[in-house]
Amino acid sequence: MFPVEPWSVRERGLDLDLLARSESLFALSNGHLGLRGNLDEGEPYGIPGTYLNSFYELRPMPYAEVAYGYPEAGQTVVNVTNGKLIRLLVDDEPFDVRYGRLLEHERVLDLRAGTLTRTADWESPTGGRVRVRSRRLVSLTQRAVAAIEYEVEAVDQTLRLIAQSELVANEPTPPRSADPREAAALEDPLAALDQDLHDHGAVLLHRTRRSGLQLAAGMDHLVEAPGKVSVERAATQDWARTSFVCTLERGQRLRIVKLLAYGWSALRSTSALRDQVAAALTGARHTGLRRLLAEQRAYLDEFWDGADVRVEGDPELQQAVRFALFHVLQTGARGERRCLPAKGLTGPGYDGHTFWDTEAYVLPVLTYTQPQAAADALRWRHSTLELARQRAATLGLRGAAFPWRTIHGEECSGYWPAGTAAFHVNADIAAAVTRYRAVTGDETLEVEAGLELLVETARLWMSLGHHDVDGAWHIAGVTGPDEYTAIVTDNLFTNLAAAHNLRGAAEAADRHPDLARGLGVTVEELAAWRKAADAVTVPYDPGLRVHQQSAGFTRLPAWDFEASRGRYPLLLHAPYFDLYRRQVVKQADLLLAQYWFAHRFDDQDKARNVDYYERRTVRDSSLSSAIQAVTAAEVGHLELAYDYACEAAQVDLRDLEHNSADGLHIASLAGVWTALVAGFGGLREHDGTLSFAPQLPDRISRLSFTLRWRGLRLGVDIEPDRATYTLRDRTSASLALRHNGEAVTVTAATPVTAPIGKRHPMLPRPPQPPGREPTHPSIGQPVDGSRRSAT
Ligand code: BGC
Repeated sequence: MFPVEPWSVRERGLDLDLLARSESLFALSNGHLGLRGNLDEGEPYGIPGTYLNSFYELRPMPYAEVAYGYPEAGQTVVNVTNGKLIRLLVDDEPFDVRYGRLLEHERVLDLRAGTLTRTADWESPTGGRVRVRSRRLVSLTQRAVAAIEYEVEAVDQTLRLIAQSELVANEPTPPRSADPREAAALEDPLAALDQDLHDHGAVLLHRTRRSGLQLAAGMDHLVEAPGKVSVERAATQDWARTSFVCTLERGQRLRIVKLLAYGWSALRSTSALRDQVAAALTGARHTGLRRLLAEQRAYLDEFWDGADVRVEGDPELQQAVRFALFHVLQTGARGERRCLPAKGLTGPGYDGHTFWDTEAYVLPVLTYTQPQAAADALRWRHSTLELARQRAATLGLRGAAFPWRTIHGEECSGYWPAGTAAFHVNADIAAAVTRYRAVTGDETLEVEAGLELLVETARLWMSLGHHDVDGAWHIAGVTGPDEYTAIVTDNLFTNLAAAHNLRGAAEAADRHPDLARGLGVTVEELAAWRKAADAVTVPYDPGLRVHQQSAGFTRLPAWDFEASRGRYPLLLHAPYFDLYRRQVVKQADLLLAQYWFAHRFDDQDKARNVDYYERRTVRDSSLSSAIQAVTAAEVGHLELAYDYACEAAQVDLRDLEHNSADGLHIASLAGVWTALVAGFGGLREHDGTLSFAPQLPDRISRLSFTLRWRGLRLGVDIEPDRATYTLRDRTSASLALRHNGEAVTVTAATPVTAPIGKRHPMLPRPPQPPGREPTHPSIGQPVDGSRRSAT
């Protein structure tokens, strides 16, 4: 669909059937404000979308059968006031690509400039021809601000143009299907509070009806044209409009710069919010478009300098990994103590909820590339701690139980076997806290938020787990990452992650004894945490010599994969009771444990585990392929790993799951980095030591990346037979790391080059369930045409 280019995603022509998908791909966001890539003139659209992080509406969650502890209210992201609209009339004919003749259309997402540009050459039904150019940005430096530059040229005759620039609230949204993964549509979510017209712009103020959040959206304009331009303004409750009228001679241009500002609050008064937005507009006007563009570029230059991944030999993967990193950055950059939703701010999918996806998939990448954003996301978790404590109390547990899915912090999952019971989210949060400290060396997060998160989640584990008569520590009745296996005893991933959580909490408490005392941590408690962690059960099948995903898993009945051909995702074709009782794995679970806790598995077990679980994993979640890339690479199946890396990379660019229209798969996009850096780079962090075990698949001739480690930028350059480590900062500091197990010290003056030997897999490349082989990268088409997964 898109030509392969290293730093951009270009769409030539316009396929209206694919509009919803391209709106997601071309979404611009800074983590606070998100604009889907809707056409400037608003119609046609796939899904109109303008989102503000954490601006949500409450909705009832009716249950057919009620039971204790079910969440009562859901939260749904709101499509807020649309400021993207600029409607154009060419001699009275509305510019609408469905009418007249669209002679040329192109859109380009520029990953270095952070802009979406569009050119359209259009002839109206009555023969008036215009060339429209627009350029959009959501500012990474001015959080509340977006800008649109809109230029119209009269191509071959004199034309009268009217440009209507608008703010529109409560836009109608298209009817949604019954697919549970789509957002619950909200009709008319915004009640008008006030409208404010000024010179060339307006501010609209609204309030959600139930959650009581207030929103202000403002616009202002600068206009340039060779002759006279008349300006008119109007507003009603749900829209405001500034119209520009002019006559252009052939070859002349009208140029409008539209500045947008958004703000919302649960607390501040309407007038304070109005002033905040007015101030953001004043600031943006003062900066001017040129400078906004320059700031955007500088912000991204700095990001790419410390985060870029270069792939030689596979230009398509090169493009995809940059596209992926760009969207991961957009998700987190200016989230600033708000949640990072599974779809970022690119679409309404999953109701705009955040899941474990953030801590387990997105934050590892941000921690190594944009650490401040990772810290902010964890501070957001911390800000919801009281709600998590209440949830734990409701569940009869100690400590804090963070929600499986939420926007504001309350549990919003109505399906408890794969929601409430998926307690591993708590250990995932804890792991993100300990990882952040290990990678950045920054103690402030731990002091201000991390310790308390670790302590309260440790307490949760102590009330969930138990020692048996022999002293072994178990966790019963929980669900691990694989949502096709639920309510099990000793999910291996959960057990190891809980043990890691307990140990991390004990170590952090030792580092900050006064703070820990303030949190009521006692010597006995610390000892109990360590004892449980040391005695954690790691289920193993000695007959098969593989680890068990959970106790007894390898002895469950098999799944009939042959009969399931063409019937994926299974969750739409098979009852949960049957999925739960058989050996069928939705997504990496045991394999995720093998990646995260690599030191707990020996090489033979790793190879056998990959062989065993590859055959049973159907990848009905897009969260799976990146992890399977890492574990396949580790045991020497480099080409399989490559196929998985490509699958993760193409999930949205090729819409492999057929649901990119609802928003991008941010965890899978983050996983592209993970597949390359942890898969082929072999990056691991254990006990504060950074290590690499690089090896390249045939299709990649060279892989280079930069990451941030304790304030330094480390460059890693991998060729088939050697790897070079370079410190990219002028500093006297040195960095100790391990290359294939050997200690290596890199200084700014002395890069280190170390050889890479070819590793051979212990076992042949394993097959996947029929029809679930990774999408073949050179073809790019799913093997099983029905491929569609849950995330
Ligand atoms: C996956 C979960 C994931 C969720 C949101 C589900 O299909 O199984 O692991 O958190 O989607 O991405």
